[in-house]
Amino acid sequence: MPEDFYRFTAHEIKRFISNDETTPVEVTASISDRIEEVNSRVNAIISFDRNDVKEELRRTKDKRAGKLFGIPVAVKDNICIEGRQVTCGSRILKGFRPPYDATVIEKLKKEGAILLGRANMDEFAFGSSCETSSYGPTNNPWDFDRIPGGSSGGSAAAVAAGEATMALGSDTGGSIRQPASLCGVVGLKPTYGRVSRYGLIAFASSLDQIGPITKDVRDCALLLNVIAGYDPKDSTSVDMKVPDYSKSLVNDVKGIKIGIPREYFIEGIDREVKESVINSVKLLERLGAKYEEVSLPHTEYAVGTYYIIAPAEASSNLARFDGVQYGLRKPGNLIDMYKNTRSVGFGSEVKRRIILGTYVLSSGYYDAYYLKALGVRTKIKEDFDKIFKDFDCIITPTAPTAAFKIGEKVDDPISMYLSDIFTIPANLAGIPGISIPCGFTKGDLPIGLQILAKPFNEETLLRVAYTFEKNSKLCGRRPNL
Ligand code: GLN
Repeated sequence: MPEDFYRFTAHEIKRFISNDETTPVEVTASISDRIEEVNSRVNAIISFDRNDVKEELRRTKDKRAGKLFGIPVAVKDNICIEGRQVTCGSRILKGFRPPYDATVIEKLKKEGAILLGRANMDEFAFGSSCETSSYGPTNNPWDFDRIPGGSSGGSAAAVAAGEATMALGSDTGGSIRQPASLCGVVGLKPTYGRVSRYGLIAFASSLDQIGPITKDVRDCALLLNVIAGYDPKDSTSVDMKVPDYSKSLVNDVKGIKIGIPREYFIEGIDREVKESVINSVKLLERLGAKYEEVSLPHTEYAVGTYYIIAPAEASSNLARFDGVQYGLRKPGNLIDMYKNTRSVGFGSEVKRRIILGTYVLSSGYYDAYYLKALGVRTKIKEDFDKIFKDFDCIITPTAPTAAFKIGEKVDDPISMYLSDIFTIPANLAGIPGISIPCGFTKGDLPIGLQILAKPFNEETLLRVAYTFEKNSKLCGRRPNL
């Protein structure tokens, strides 16, 4: 029996445990050792305590029948776990311990998951590189000089490096799919409303979704099965039956119609990325799918629209962090206390977004910017609705390039914002998307492929992704640490 359980997927570990070939104690020991061995280089996990592991093992003792019994899961630092510090990677929340569990955490606990390690992230999930965390940047496990993507960079890097068997991320404009792509793992953003946001610290409430980051598509279905579903505590979650996603894991795409949007293969996209995505579509064609070029004409407005709506919502969501109820408080009279706390507590990208958001919501600009952006958002959604009348899914690159160098874009917000050009439209339209590994650059950096489908059709994503994974044989590759 192997001892290096950090190498295995959750479904493999589940089998070992149910055959009595190992125990959660051995599995968590392997992951804990791995964190201690590699995390000083990767910095994917920002807090890890062996005492928490013991407590988790005690808590899950009687959960043997659970779907995630004994599986170590890393949780992004913006999802509340009762009694454990949650900071969104920000100084302003240092020391804040929420008094309740997010709904997704309640579900993980019920199924016997071991909550082990907090995953690093861009401060308040504003970013595409995981460089703005107050805990310092996360390094891409494939090349430590490069970013892992963001904002769920810690979750993706942790899974790629074996510091977690699976992880939870959140995706507002691409923060699950883009880091999954850059780290060579699988990441799924569910349909808006499929997974409860209760207990997720809000960034842009009309766009945020929690989702799985895993080593393969089977694990992705497994974790989605656990977290999906209606929650009366989140009024935007949808009361619709959740299918058994493991049933979508069929190696068959015969008859599937794929749309390839011409607006996603524009100038600026890396040649190796483009080739790899096109070759992947051809592989799916050989397996029985059909593809055709389609047009999503409002794509070019997506980034601009997002950078009005997302900061607008963020500026209002972050107003609550004022030194009174949460985390950091700097001294002064009332006004100075607000000012000092927010000046010291927030990093510069957070301040930029608050200023941007407050501006577009202010009287006189509200109609010109915010309302206009809402109108364009509808157009973007209509583009997708139209395509999905005739097509089962859309395939695009997840990101225009493979992982870029640490420091390369951090002082150039526009170029950073453009790294989400292919992921943002799905959030604006509320549709589900998955990123799966589809190749490697000559420099041995992972490339990701994005599949999009109509609302509440995660099953199609999983079916196409699973078929691709089985036939491309790319998913077992892990970085050499
Ligand atoms: N990179 C995008 C942003 O900075 C998306 C982030 C996210 O999905 N949380 O807003």
